[in-house]
Amino acid sequence: MIVIKDFIDDESRMLRSAQAIRDGIGSGELSKIREQPDEIAEDGTTAREGRLLARWALSRERNPKLRSSKIKAARKLGLPIQCEVCDFNFGQTYGEMGDDFIEVHHVLPLHISGPCETRLADLAFLCSNCHRMCHRSYRGESWRTPAAVRVEIAEALKAAEDT
Ligand SMILES: [Zn+2]
Ligand SMILES: [Zn+2]
Repeated sequence: MIVIKDFIDDESRMLRSAQAIRDGIGSGELSKIREQPDEIAEDGTTAREGRLLARWALSRERNPKLRSSKIKAARKLGLPIQCEVCDFNFGQTYGEMGDDFIEVHHVLPLHISGPCETRLADLAFLCSNCHRMCHRSYRGESWRTPAAVRVEIAEALKAAEDT
């Protein structure tokens, strides 16, 4: 099992985030993570713990070392580099420009798992659309697993067939 300490290279950020988690638990602030910001619009200007944690979770997902380890591991297993929800494959659609382009998502977000080592098995490959759906606030939930997004797609498809 490959284990990666993904925040070892940014200790001060880790300490700030750990403090934010402790503050959040102490004050009930963690519930504010329900209002998880839209990850791409996030401008990084607010300091509220929830937003800090969400931002940290997202920057954690953007860790290039984790990403390339995940891609390497998938290659070793002969798995395609494509969305685990909808099978979208950037290389197939965009040609060489899209080769190996994929977003990496932590299946358990930071505010559930707490600060911990990231195992490659905890990471999922997602296309940009499915990734947004995992992080979108919907029906009171600020995130959902790739498996839950897959269920939503199946239900939408079924609803479309029924009409
Ligand atoms: Zn997808
Ligand atoms: Zn994500």
